[in-house]
Amino acid sequence: MAYDPNNIFARILRGEIPSKKIYEDEHTLAFHDINPLAPVHALVIPKGEYVSFADFSAKASDAEIAALVRAVGKVAKDLGCEQDGYRILSNIGQNGHQEVPHLHIHIFGGASLGRMLN
Ligand code: IMP
Repeated sequence: MAYDPNNIFARILRGEIPSKKIYEDEHTLAFHDINPLAPVHALVIPKGEYVSFADFSAKASDAEIAALVRAVGKVAKDLGCEQDGYRILSNIGQNGHQEVPHLHIHIFGGASLGRMLN
């Protein structure tokens, strides 16, 4: 899928739309989801223009990949999820019901989340 530079996360990265920022570094931004589905619901995104995980893993630099992984761990810990646990999830493409076509990792926590797949 071609990258749409006007998707909502691209606009957040350009500062055109506000977000509740949690963490930022050279390669990564994390912010609270606007429609939280759990007491903790954060999104971690690369700053680069990647749509899918395949896209990201093939094209991103090692520094970008490391930054995203480290940011997910740091944000989960900083939001108090480390002790009781949490869930990370990335919806990709049509079958994954990805709504925003800029790669993002959801972090859910703050409560027992139940089993996702039965
Ligand atoms: P997905 O693409 O289905 O994985 O989900 C996109 C997520 O982005 C949803 O959980 C939305 O609530 C969230 N979202 C959409 N617009 C905004 C925004 O402007 N700020 C923060 N989160 C957003």
